[in-house]
Amino acid sequence: MFGKSLYAVFAMVALTATACGSGEETYASIVDKAKNDKKLVIGVKADQPGLGLRTPDGSFSGFDVEVAKYVAKELGVEAKDITFKETVSANREAFLQQGQVDMVVATYSINDARKQKVSFAGPYFVAGQDLLVRADDTKLTGPEALNGKKLCSVAGSTPAQKVKESYAKEVQLQEERTYSACVDRVLGGQLDAITTDNVILAGYAAQHGGKLKVVGKAFSTEKYGIGLKKDDKQGRDAVNNALEKMFTDGSWKKALDGSVGASGFAAPQAPQLERY
Ligand code: GLU
Repeated sequence: MFGKSLYAVFAMVALTATACGSGEETYASIVDKAKNDKKLVIGVKADQPGLGLRTPDGSFSGFDVEVAKYVAKELGVEAKDITFKETVSANREAFLQQGQVDMVVATYSINDARKQKVSFAGPYFVAGQDLLVRADDTKLTGPEALNGKKLCSVAGSTPAQKVKESYAKEVQLQEERTYSACVDRVLGGQLDAITTDNVILAGYAAQHGGKLKVVGKAFSTEKYGIGLKKDDKQGRDAVNNALEKMFTDGSWKKALDGSVGASGFAAPQAPQLERY
């Protein structure tokens, strides 16, 4: 008798420990997770200067990181309680679907295909697809001059998709995991240009002072959204409210000037939120 109940007590203790220790409690909305855990895991880029960059001390900097911190704070989570996790273009949907991150702030364009898998708040920034070439390149002057060129972009990105859809005949496309890998290949002369959003390219041009230049003829509209778990309507509304506040209290402009501003990229106005 005694043996049995002791076993039951042990079993209960073991069960409770698993429930508490795993930290795997799932929440219907990021709002509940932030409120109860006071912690968030946020996916950002780690190699995009001015936007999402891992610094030598292991922390992250850039406009996306500032947006993430502001939104987290509005949800009740302090910057010190955010775990930033590197995402690349191809794994953002999967990271959200699998719960590896609670939100993604990573130069992440809102589009219909992605909306099948995740939800978006925003947009909080509008960029456009452009080209980054070596500074001495006088021929590649825009998308109309792409014939016969070797381009580099990133797997799972909208610019790579656009090249495959609209320029498949005239260009050879190399897809890398990250844009920084592309930069090395263009600097090394193996490839002619990198194509992705102008604001990302401006960061690399500034990083490699004088060796690379942005062509400056944007040929798409990239609206950056904050990726959330699909159907988290409560989360989307809360994040949109946070963005609205960030636009109006001056923090958005301040964050932009202090991050992207370093590359000389002309700061646009805050966009109109798309609430749905
Ligand atoms: N904004 C584009 C996208 O979401 C390109 C930048 C990126 O790959 O992060 O695919």
